Amino acid sequence: MSATNDPFQFQFDLPPQPYPARELNEVIHKSAWRAAPRATSKREPGEIELIVIHATAGSSTGGAVSVMTEKRASFHWIVPGRKETAHGRFVWACAPESRAAWHVRNRCFHPEICGGAKRLNHRSLGIEIVNDQRGEPFSPWQIEATAEIIAYAMGKYPALRHVTSHARLDPARRTDPGPLFPWTEFVDRITENMKRETLSEPREFHRPR
Ligand SMILES: [Zn+2]
Repeated sequence: MSATNDPFQFQFDLPPQPYPARELNEVIHKSAWRAAPRATSKREPGEIELIVIHATAGSSTGGAVSVMTEKRASFHWIVPGRKETAHGRFVWACAPESRAAWHVRNRCFHPEICGGAKRLNHRSLGIEIVNDQRGEPFSPWQIEATAEIIAYAMGKYPALRHVTSHARLDPARRTDPGPLFPWTEFVDRITENMKRETLSEPREFHRPR
């Protein structure tokens, strides 16, 4: 395992600059959404500063959703698995962004993330990627779809600064999204999206009308 592909090191800090609003290709997952009010908390005052990347350790969206309906944990989106019909089409919205999902333990922190603050669920959004965590590769579409969620959030939450792994925040208990998650490629996608946005604005501006 190379140093750059160590899930405990996965962290990307976004430059503080405004990004344009973007649509997200998401579909509300009815069962998750129905469970969300009882499986999430009211957000404490503050802004969204962080996105945490998880992998489900199961090979289905249904399995991930059952964790929510059983009120054991929750998250804002699921990126479908490679064999699922939603794969290549859309991501599942599972909980309102206005609510704090239960995806990181309250006591967890990292000195390089949100100034070492705890209770990170209140400052973050959580993404679950369906992956068995037993050697299954992530698909290129899963990486792209996850980067699209980041781009969407960048346009919506100006205080967003960090993208990191669950492993980095809870190294004693978690390794997700695991060493097979192509972090470098993922960061490249985010960076490309950022470049595309900064290039598209002057192009629009100079378009003759
Ligand atoms: Zn996790």
